[in-house]
Amino acid sequence: MGIRIEDLHYSFGEVRALRGLDMVVPEGSIYGLVGRNGAGKTTTLRLAMGILRASSGSIEVLGMDPVERGAELRSMVGYLPEDRSLYGYMTVDETLSFARSLRRRWDGDLVEEFLDHFRIPRHRPVSDLSAGVKTQLSLTLAAAHRPRLLLLDEPTAHLDPVGVRELFGAILGLAAEEGQTVILSSHALQLVEGVADHVGIMVEGRLVQSGPVDGVKDREKRIRAVFQVDPPRELLDHPAVVGIEGEGRRLQFTVRGDVDEIMEICRRIPHFALEILDMDLEAIFHGYAGEVRGEGQK
Ligand code: ATP
Repeated sequence: MGIRIEDLHYSFGEVRALRGLDMVVPEGSIYGLVGRNGAGKTTTLRLAMGILRASSGSIEVLGMDPVERGAELRSMVGYLPEDRSLYGYMTVDETLSFARSLRRRWDGDLVEEFLDHFRIPRHRPVSDLSAGVKTQLSLTLAAAHRPRLLLLDEPTAHLDPVGVRELFGAILGLAAEEGQTVILSSHALQLVEGVADHVGIMVEGRLVQSGPVDGVKDREKRIRAVFQVDPPRELLDHPAVVGIEGEGRRLQFTVRGDVDEIMEICRRIPHFALEILDMDLEAIFHGYAGEVRGEGQK
């Protein structure tokens, strides 16, 4: 297993950043951890790196406790921190030599490949690089020891669309060649959908949806209906029916869970039109974000 987290809690003083997080990341998956600002994504990755210690609950990374076996674990994990953690006064070459001196394993060919792929200038001081190129350099450092697991915090921040494509190309290349497990945090759902095979949607310190992307999409559908009579409470109050929009007999709502059961109820109600629509991850995510803001509530 890449990562297994059960009922994890973490607080910064009064701020409860994680509130009973359960998360399973299968080995070999590309896992998109998505959530709004402050949902707890960075905290989760820092706990997985052993930088923070959980208040309660359990966390296993590559089968290890990240605090007790931190040094061993960090030799198998590559981490792209949110602040990129680079020294501005060093050149790119100096940065690479420094990072290499800290690592037992270093794949020079891979580093060269990444420098070429991203066209990173080797003799420039890091402080002169754009934020996007700093991210690409930081990813190169994170991948240079060919870790089994890559933890990437907001890897697409500051990248233009071409940069995002190049970054995903590099990530997919690693995953395809060596079956590396990759977790990337983001609030850019459309981007995540382009690369991830698993997803976890995080809201206020816990996951509200998770699993293979296709499975998550199968569990959430939008139904558009024009009924001939007022829809019964059996439908409107059903726990799987959320985010109701429209009025009276003309409704649109999200089904979260047993879509077949809700369609069965709808079919029994005389109707003029009944339509089931797929949702993309972005729409699913906005549904949860809307509920936190109190929109579309029954
Ligand atoms: P973002 O997308 O903005 O990076 P995130 O999902 O990564 O957000 P976290 O950075 O994990 O979220 O933050 C979770 C919660 O913990 C937030 O309420 C945040 O304000 C709080 N928090 C994070 N770091 C600290 C800290 N060092 N001290 C106090 N509170 C913190």
